[in-house]
Amino acid sequence: DGQVSPNELSPGLLDLHSFDTELLSEMEAPSTFNALSMDQFARGTSFGDPETYFGYGKQSGRARELPDINVMKSSTTDKDKPNNVAKIKVVVRKRPLNKKELTKNEEDIIQTQSNYLAVHETKLKVDLTEYVEKHEFVFDAVLNEEVSNDEVYQETVEPIVPIIFQQTKATCFAYGQTGSGKTYTMKPLPLKASRDILRLMNHTYRNQGFQLFVSFFEIYGGKLFDLLNERKKLFMREDGKKQVCIVGLDEYRVSDVETIKELIEKGNATRSTGTTGANEESSRSHAILQLAIKRSVIGNNSKPPKPVGKLSFIDLAGSERGADTTDNDKQTRTEGAEINKSLLALKECIRALDNDQNHIPFRGSKLTEVLRDSFVGNSRTVMISCISPSSGSSEHTLNTLRYADRVKSLSKGGISKK
Ligand code: ADP
Ligand code: MG
Repeated sequence: DGQVSPNELSPGLLDLHSFDTELLSEMEAPSTFNALSMDQFARGTSFGDPETYFGYGKQSGRARELPDINVMKSSTTDKDKPNNVAKIKVVVRKRPLNKKELTKNEEDIIQTQSNYLAVHETKLKVDLTEYVEKHEFVFDAVLNEEVSNDEVYQETVEPIVPIIFQQTKATCFAYGQTGSGKTYTMKPLPLKASRDILRLMNHTYRNQGFQLFVSFFEIYGGKLFDLLNERKKLFMREDGKKQVCIVGLDEYRVSDVETIKELIEKGNATRSTGTTGANEESSRSHAILQLAIKRSVIGNNSKPPKPVGKLSFIDLAGSERGADTTDNDKQTRTEGAEINKSLLALKECIRALDNDQNHIPFRGSKLTEVLRDSFVGNSRTVMISCISPSSGSSEHTLNTLRYADRVKSLSKGGISKK
């Protein structure tokens, strides 16, 4: 019944360049992917109980990477060990209804409970009578409209901060349609993380030569721009060791929270000063803020510090922009195709990561190429899928949840390969 296509089972074999329209077609084929999530839903029984869900993960071979969230929080002895942090975590955040939606009398169609979420989609029968279709999902965590940015941080990034001191690269993405809360969600995270990183540097790892560096750039139409240096155009290069390097990217060494705050604000301000208006512009670009930990040999200042770990925060382009491939404007079409390609490639890379595949299809897009070094070796990924609660957004919301669901339901490919 087409629930899992052959390509889904072997993402590593995908030629991403020939799949520019896959994301688009996913958007147009809801029933297939909904069937997938329903199937998963049917296999778990009690969603109020995290044990059940993680038990289900165990059967599918992911349990070792999906520690119980509560255990993770309460553990004090092992929590700094990389193995105790889920390799991939998919979290959904629902924002409250906004004024505009309330004036239009739009309803909240999203029901949440623990890590379970249901979308109540109103549809029309052939005879034009209305009926409600219920779509159910389960994620690693579901954060409802009452959850604060502090709690979002605790659930997503806080657990991975300690392990970037241990040769780990971690990436946190915000995915969703424009207006769903990606920027609202992502903006506070790097500063909160910096605070924790500096605290570790000044206490646990005091006088051990660790240094913190900040860089901030965006990918717009497949090109790179430095957000901390007046949108200077940047180029990517691969060195002999296949290390990706962004030539000319400003990287600031920071040792206090205030400076980091200023840099982040500067980058955010630079991001939104486009020619076609702030919101329009930022919805078509991926903004990437990186916190890099390096280490210098104490007493030897002649050698450059060595990279230790990295934490990347990515405010992705609006997911609906990937569908701008039939627009009348040629530039919009090209940008849409690039966004479509990058969101698709991103999903494939995360899936490949979770399957421990040797081949990571990062060449599929500029975004994944830039993130290449975060996808190899010891890596962790957190995806925050942002959704609007309103009835008017049901289609985009379902597309976002299906994307998240497919990032998460990786073990299918893994099992078939074993
Ligand atoms: P996006 O970056 O996905 O386009 P934004 O982050 O700009 O969306 O959010 C759109 C609007 O909704 C903003 O005005 C933002 O302040 C508001 N908003 C988003 N998420 C929340 C939330 N969880 N609580 C309150 N307001 C929110
Ligand atoms: Mg935004």
